[in-house]
Amino acid sequence: MSIAEEKTILICMRVTHHGYHVPGGLRVQCADCGELVWVSPSGWLILHDSPGAEVVCVECGLERMLAEPGKISPPTPAQLDELNEYLHQKGSAA
Ligand SMILES: [Zn+2]
Repeated sequence: MSIAEEKTILICMRVTHHGYHVPGGLRVQCADCGELVWVSPSGWLILHDSPGAEVVCVECGLERMLAEPGKISPPTPAQLDELNEYLHQKGSAA
């Protein structure tokens, strides 16, 4: 019995993040902690192309990256844009 080695994990912002809202995004539960997160339109494309993909929040996603370095693919350019936007908002909202 074997599990597919390649697993897609989509890392999303929590909806509880102050003032953060993804235009066209939908709310999905984090697979690890159950918090609601925003899945952006670019994220939906990834889910569509990756059956069995898991959605996790940023906090859990970072924990997974630290726990399993090299196992998680780098984000797509569209995701990087969103992350940059997120980090910018985080910095100015704090
Ligand atoms: Zn989580």
